[in-house]
Amino acid sequence: MSSSEFPEWIEDDLQKLRKAGLFRSRRTFKPLPDGRCLLEGQELVNLSSNDYLNLAHDPRLISLATTALQEMGVGSRASALVSGRTEWHARLEQRLADFEGTDAAILFPSGYAANLGVVSAIAREGDTIYCDRLNHASLVDGSRLAGAKFRVYRHDHLGKLKRELDKTTGDGKTIIVTDSIFSMDGIRAPLGELCNLAEQYQACLVIDEAHATGVWGATGRGLAEELNVESRVTIRVGTLSKGLGTMGGFVAGSNSLIEWLWNRVRTQIYSTALPPAICAAACESLNIITAEPERRQQLHAQSEFLRQELVNRSLLADNTSSGPIIPVILKDPERTMSIAADLQAAGFLVGAIRPPTVPQGTSRLRISVTSAHQRADLDRFLKALDCSLARFAKSR
Ligand code: PMP
Repeated sequence: MSSSEFPEWIEDDLQKLRKAGLFRSRRTFKPLPDGRCLLEGQELVNLSSNDYLNLAHDPRLISLATTALQEMGVGSRASALVSGRTEWHARLEQRLADFEGTDAAILFPSGYAANLGVVSAIAREGDTIYCDRLNHASLVDGSRLAGAKFRVYRHDHLGKLKRELDKTTGDGKTIIVTDSIFSMDGIRAPLGELCNLAEQYQACLVIDEAHATGVWGATGRGLAEELNVESRVTIRVGTLSKGLGTMGGFVAGSNSLIEWLWNRVRTQIYSTALPPAICAAACESLNIITAEPERRQQLHAQSEFLRQELVNRSLLADNTSSGPIIPVILKDPERTMSIAADLQAAGFLVGAIRPPTVPQGTSRLRISVTSAHQRADLDRFLKALDCSLARFAKSR
């Protein structure tokens, strides 16, 4: 390709995206405390955030992060294995291991990097990866990077996965990867059944607890804790960026697993370590999650209230979600964008999610509730949604 062709195909591609209603533009937000944000001078109730436990603005996190900032500066200056791993990284690793009840833990620059690195380190040519069709892009990309055979299955058709596993031949490893909570649907993966299959077929089971850490389980360790299968899962990946209100990814596990990951995962080895202040804040998040289970209870109570109201309005076609992620599937990207714009005008920010993030024909509002949201916020939101849906129906 000559350099003169370059801009033309980029322009063509942009045109294609615009025509399909799939062009993504960006805006600048100012996060505010208590589930609010500022956008273009307007204060909005933020129903698009993954800060499920309202920790990102917590003064205790800010205070400890400030101590670490003053002590060690902003960036960590090098990858962890060179000279970037500070006392705060070591403390967070230990704190995560204690929280998860494991020997040790390892940190990654992001949840994306953790999934990409872990899956591509486990699998290689000759292995077979089974990936749920709703899995996050980072698990899909990690699977592709691995160069292994790649098969897509549906968590709601495990019979088909079993038949595929029956057919798997050769010496290669079998690896099943899944989100524990599917990020755009709020649906739980059937972890018990997946553990059964993994045990029956001697497969590795890798689960991504991104949207479950802090949110599910008696102590907030995730869906594997909730379903009592933690010891049956080969590798559990978590993020610090959602329920913990900070940034980064992690795996907690046995000493051998963690030593192996330190030695084999390229997204860890070849990337600068997390900022020390972020590690300090995440330590405090874990303390709060442990000491204040009422945050989780509040989160689930508010989520169930909103879900039930949406069910009453027949707006949840497939009522299989649970927890704070609530998808209202509007199918058409244009309708989705229009309703999201109305909601914004009425003071609410919700995610308007279109393909390729979700399959064609399933554009949706992705509503995410946090423990900061009050019943009055949700009542007002429902009224605004009713109005907008009625207005859109009339305009057709
Ligand atoms: N896994 C899932 C299921 C996610 O939704 C996300 C973030 N959208 C990630 C992993 C990546 O995590 P992070 O944002 O920390 O990179």
